[in-house]
Amino acid sequence: MSRLLIMGPPGAGKGTQAASLAERIGAAHISTGDIFRENVSQQTELGRTAQQYMDAGEYVPDEVTNAMVRDRLGQDDAGNGFILDGYPRTLDQVDTLDEILAGLGVQLDGVVSLVVDTDEVVARLLKRAETSGRSDDTEDVIRHRQEVYHAETAPLLSVYTERGLVREVDGLGEVDEVARRIDAALDAPG
Ligand code: AMP
Repeated sequence: MSRLLIMGPPGAGKGTQAASLAERIGAAHISTGDIFRENVSQQTELGRTAQQYMDAGEYVPDEVTNAMVRDRLGQDDAGNGFILDGYPRTLDQVDTLDEILAGLGVQLDGVVSLVVDTDEVVARLLKRAETSGRSDDTEDVIRHRQEVYHAETAPLLSVYTERGLVREVDGLGEVDEVARRIDAALDAPG
């Protein structure tokens, strides 16, 4: 399995798990949130567009995000496999991803769904807020991001479940323990 999505509510530990899984399987870790944050810090035009949405806990418009991912998936390192972290987040992005992958002649191998309790992740994010310096780590924005996730992104899991791609993993626990669960879920027969 080398072409994967990782999904879960904000604060579920997606970024940490995606980075270490990518290293274990030699795939590119593609985090749309990280790419946006890099652009914000370098004050590119993309960064200026993205920042206002990110600060409000809203999604960056699909056309902006889709174009960025299309470009990133076309780069050489993604040819050896990829873990998409934080994309797709809307049904429109699912359609675009299908189209990008069809154009590249490849298919998704699986979707890791990190399952965590909302109160637990809000508590985690409030803790992260004390040290992260992320401008979207304030209590109002944290709660709003959970609502947006449940309204817009959680429904994507049904789409991928229907395709038989989803592997649920309990996201609560130590980082290494969750990593072991992910490996086991990916190794298990589909
Ligand atoms: P993340 O680090 O994945 O939690 O993303 C941080 C923020 O970046 C999100 O709250 C959105 O504002 C923006 N973002 C990241 N990925 C996407 C996406 N696929 N679609 C729209 N906005 C996104």
